[in-house]
Parts: sequence; C-alpha cells; structure tokens
Amino acid sequence: MESKPDIRALDAPVLTALFAELGEPAFRVDQLRRWLWTAGAEDFLAMHNLSKGLRETLNARFSARLPRVVDEACAADGTRKLLIELDDGARVETVLMPRVGWREEEADGGPAPEFHDTACLSTMAGCPMGCAFCATAKLGLTRRLAAHEIAAQILLLRRHSERLRNAVFMGQGEPLENYEATLEAARLLLGPLGMGARRLTVSTCGVVPGIRRLAREPEKLKLAVSLNAPDDALRDELMPVNRRWPLAELLDACREFYDLTGRRVTFEYVLLGGVNDSPEQARALVRLLHGVPHKLNLIAYNPVAGLPYRAPRDSDVERFLEITRRGAYAANLRRSRGAEIAAACGQLSLRSATAPPEEPTT
Ligand code: SF4
Repeated sequence: MESKPDIRALDAPVLTALFAELGEPAFRVDQLRRWLWTAGAEDFLAMHNLSKGLRETLNARFSARLPRVVDEACAADGTRKLLIELDDGARVETVLMPRVGWREEEADGGPAPEFHDTACLSTMAGCPMGCAFCATAKLGLTRRLAAHEIAAQILLLRRHSERLRNAVFMGQGEPLENYEATLEAARLLLGPLGMGARRLTVSTCGVVPGIRRLAREPEKLKLAVSLNAPDDALRDELMPVNRRWPLAELLDACREFYDLTGRRVTFEYVLLGGVNDSPEQARALVRLLHGVPHKLNLIAYNPVAGLPYRAPRDSDVERFLEITRRGAYAANLRRSRGAEIAAACGQLSLRSATAPPEEPTT
C-alpha cells in the first residue's frame, strides 16, 4: 500500500516553496505541474525534462499515483461510471457522459450543437443534504473531497475519451458545501487541465450563500440549480435545503447570478411520477420562473431501489414539457443517461463507501 503523500495535493505556491528549499528554479514547478495535470503522469522517474536528482528526490518523498479505479461499468449509450478509491479508502463515483448534447450559447445568444463528452464530478464521498429522491443521500456524508481529488477524476476519465471538454460538479455531494475545494478544482481544470470556463458548470441543490459567492468569482463558471418542485411545501419535503433557503431567496440569488455574470441559470427539474409532474405544477413552475433568465432541463426520474418514487408516465412528461415550453424561456427534456448502470441523475450511490476493498478491475 502506497503511504507517501500525494504530490497532487500540493498547490503551486507550496510546490514553489518546496522547490526553493531543494534549490530548484521556479520554472521547474510548471514543468512538474504539466506532467501531473496535463499529461496525467504517475511515475516521477519518467519525467524526462526534470533533472535525475530531482526526479529521485520526488520519487523518494511523494507519490504521483492517481486514485485507484476499483470498479467500472459502461452502459449501452456509452455512459461510463468509475468507482474510485482515495488514499484513505473513501470511495466515490465519477461518470463520463458521451455526446451529452448540452448546448453552449453562441455570441448572439442562440443555441449551438454540442458534441463533446462531459464529466460528472463528485465533490464529496456521500452527501449530507438529504434529498428524498437521491441514492447518495441515503449514505450520509463520509467526507468532503480535496481539490486534487476532484480534479483527478478528469485525468481518470480522459483515459476513456479524447473529446472530454465539459465538466459539471454534479456527482456525489453538494459542491457549494465544499466551496473552496470545488473552486480550487475548477482552477486546476481551467489551468493545467486546459478546459474553458464556459464548459464548467457548478450544480447545486440550492445553497444560496454559495450561489452569491460564485457569482462574484472571476472564473465565471456556469450554474445549474436542482429545483424539482414549483412550491415551498413540496420542495421542503423533497429537499431539506429548502427549509433553510426557500424558493424566493433561491430565485433572488439566481437573478443576482445572472445580473453579475450575464449567464442564465440552468434549472434541473427531475420529474417524479405522481409527485411533481402534473399540469398544474407545470403551470406553477412557469409562473415561478417568470422573470428569471434561465434554461429548464426536465429529466425523467430513474427509480432507485428502496426509495418510494417512480418514473413519470411518458404522456405526463410530454404534457409537462409542452406547458413549460410555453413559458418565456427554453425548456428541454434531457435524456437521462446510463440508467442501467445506475449512473443517471440521482442514482449515484456510495455502495462504494462502505464496501470492503476489492481488487482493481482495470
Ligand atoms: S441530490 Fe445532490 S445535493 Fe441532494 S442529496 Fe443527492 S447528491 Fe446531495
């Protein structure tokens, strides 16, 4: 078992101080970070543009190993889910969604087709937010992930995709309740991992202070909000976060996000059969979102064993879509991916967190 500290846990200032202590010039830090974050290298001794002495010193003191992939599943639609094990044995899932079809806005504000793959990154092992329909919620919080543990998921997923361009902080955990690490991970994605800010989305269940803070960050990341109910009574029941920050406060923060960033918020609405999918609720949703520049993604629920919710009927989904499309802003039905490998929305669960160690499958 590797016991040396993970070199990827050291940020640029810490590496700069370390290299100064070792008598190495500052530009070596950039060289090392390119090996670690751009090339995804795991062997110091193969980093040929570093001196032999430095390579050996780093190799003696640190590990460059990426988290271990302990299980892997691929759905017929190409969605791939990796179960990874972190240094302390905590396990999280990370998902690659192929040609997910999400759209970027062109300069004129019109939609453009999007054909790149998307990474769905976990920011916590488990989750403390307690959403009633969510598999991860059943597991509670094991721990928050560090920035390098979040960003390293991209390196693991890139082994399976050459066109991975988008990332959404939306896997297990609530990113805005792990704010510093999520932002630091985003900075790694924007820096040595070479991704663009328009391709990074932070998805929240409605942590209002985090939304207001994110709106003021220079990185200008995109925001998605998991809404799932058109009124406080139902949302209180489905998403305990709503008791702390009810809809009026949440939508006020979303309006401010748009005012400060110029970016429309994407609202995600998971349709739960017989719970939030009636025509009245569709109309209430249109009224609720009136005046908030947004995109609306409707997602048909994927049933989770042990939870009392069912998938909506196709006819109810179509009717809900039709009504919300008559609202002022764009509404789409987003096909949920990877349902048969439990990689779809609300299905990521930490069977992993408590499972005994297994042999790697890759
Ligand atoms: S839906 Fe997201 S925020 Fe809610 S419990 Fe699940 S992982 Fe946590």
